[in-house]
Amino acid sequence: MVNNKRLCVNCNIPMRTTMTSYKGIELEALQCPKCQEKIFTEDLAKKAIAKLEARRVETEYLKNPIKIGHSWGLTFPKEVARFFQLENPKTKLKLHPHPEQGKIEILIA
Ligand SMILES: [Zn+2]
Repeated sequence: MVNNKRLCVNCNIPMRTTMTSYKGIELEALQCPKCQEKIFTEDLAKKAIAKLEARRVETEYLKNPIKIGHSWGLTFPKEVARFFQLENPKTKLKLHPHPEQGKIEILIA
């Protein structure tokens, strides 16, 4: 792990992974065993943000299908759109109909 090789700027000794709590969510951070200094690397910060955003995404939404021309559409809640980067023009959604289970699976491609 690259993270474990991160040295404390004060003590010049390797920092170790620790858990820190922010808004009730356990997040990974690095801590110096000597001076107790805690840091977030960019990687850890990204992980933490994803975790915070994921908590805002509900496990279930009830939506009515919307008729668009001859097709049917579905709107995505804002937090879902943000989390899965639907605003990115490169984002493609893969639909997997499962008629026998009565469900349509949507994957981010
Ligand atoms: Zn230190």
